[in-house]
Amino acid sequence: MKLAVAALLAVQAAAFAPAPQFGAPRTAMHMSTETETEEKAFAKLPASVKPGVVTGKALLDLLDSAKEQGYAIPGVNVVGSNSINACMEAAKKYGGPIMVTFSKGGGQFIAGKAADNTDDKASIAGCVAAAKHVREVAALYGVPVVLHTDHCQKAWLPWFDGLMEANEEYYAQNGEPLFSSHMLDLSEEPLEENIAICKKYMERMAKIDMLLEFELGITGGEEDGVDNTDVDSARLYTQPEEVWYSYQQLSEIPNAMFTCAASFGNVHGVYAPGNVDLQPVILHNSQKYIQEKLETEDTKPMKFVFHGGSGSSVEDIRYAIEAGVIKMNIDTDTQWAYWDGIRAYEAKNHDYLQGQIGNPEGEDKPNKKYYDPRMALRSGEEAMADRLVKAAEDLNCVNVLN
Ligand SMILES: [Zn+2]
Repeated sequence: MKLAVAALLAVQAAAFAPAPQFGAPRTAMHMSTETETEEKAFAKLPASVKPGVVTGKALLDLLDSAKEQGYAIPGVNVVGSNSINACMEAAKKYGGPIMVTFSKGGGQFIAGKAADNTDDKASIAGCVAAAKHVREVAALYGVPVVLHTDHCQKAWLPWFDGLMEANEEYYAQNGEPLFSSHMLDLSEEPLEENIAICKKYMERMAKIDMLLEFELGITGGEEDGVDNTDVDSARLYTQPEEVWYSYQQLSEIPNAMFTCAASFGNVHGVYAPGNVDLQPVILHNSQKYIQEKLETEDTKPMKFVFHGGSGSSVEDIRYAIEAGVIKMNIDTDTQWAYWDGIRAYEAKNHDYLQGQIGNPEGEDKPNKKYYDPRMALRSGEEAMADRLVKAAEDLNCVNVLN
């Protein structure tokens, strides 16, 4: 039954968009394990999806499966191995996939704030180094991991280009890209220019089996140094015609894989209730519009992603998922959780953290085991992972592997 559904979807996809060509020759290692790849690693997912980093057809299968089963994957901004590992720990706990996401600033932080960042060199090196960390350890957590990057505006394209060079180099050696996907956010530009630049990059990415996330409309609020708090509120709401235009344009490229961050009143950050007017019906209207244009049975032809979801009601989140949202970005809430874990650790052990020697048990007692950085950082990791399990519950992403 599942196979029949999959076959039907494949036929639909082939009819309305250029069929992905994933049969390209791979390395000898890939060839020899072909029979092995037929075996399913996860009962509820297509056989292509294995523990560890997923790219290309496996990524597409994973996202299509999420859309079909009605859940969204947490896409989490990370700033180092602690937050990266907390993501994978959470995914192992909730039994679902995770999208580890690096921002340009996050990449620079990973390289180290003192590193030379001329031409975004540190931002690029930090993202690449962290991606390699994920590639080394991801399979140890037994979950599918998507390696992704966040908002990239026009002025930041040198960062994007640097990442693409790393992907192309990795692809030449391993038959798959280093990252699974990248986001381009050219929503400040006019629509035609936005999509024209996306199309140029989509061509380059499609050649190495990469997925592009693009943005239409503007996500309000402030995040990672981009301040959209004063933007005209009309630009916070995408029109179905714009989604359709983008879908058509990008579908012209062979092997194109893309997701759309359409704005529907989303705002980065957490604000007092009443300040955000979320309209996920925009996503439903867009799907209906595209479905009619394509004359397809598929009620959700576009894969959407949800930015600025922190502080949203579970009702709004679920309603957005019904409209084909397959990933929700999480940053603000996990930033707080991480800090709150460290804060709680300090509060609990305050009297053991005031000097190297001396605590309530005696003036000469050493405190080494309390101030070992791993203790406070681990509390941050645990709190972040717990918060992500809660996020996965909101996103219907619990026990979706087996
Ligand atoms: Zn965002």
